[in-house]
Amino acid sequence: MSNHKRESCREMLGTLSLYLDGEAEESLCREIERHMAECEDCRIVVDTLAMTVKLYREHGQRSLPGEARRRLYAALDLTDFLPGGQKSASPSDRSSTKGLDD
Ligand SMILES: [Zn+2]
Repeated sequence: MSNHKRESCREMLGTLSLYLDGEAEESLCREIERHMAECEDCRIVVDTLAMTVKLYREHGQRSLPGEARRRLYAALDLTDFLPGGQKSASPSDRSSTKGLDD
């Protein structure tokens, strides 16, 4: 059931990370939303990811931590679309997990 491997899907999924982080341009958001309207597979994927991002936001995270994102993408069979240069981008990832083991 790898329907979301079509050309337009790949294009959309490749930009998804920006969209989820709220860093996508208005026009890109439109494109993604339009694709989602036409493609149920992608809609499910984006909904799942967006819901998770929202949960993290409600817990004070600006965006999805790298590890959580990797796990989600793997669960959705999207590892091809994981953004590569993520590691140095969020220095706050680590400090937020400190001092929680009380
Ligand atoms: Zn699609």
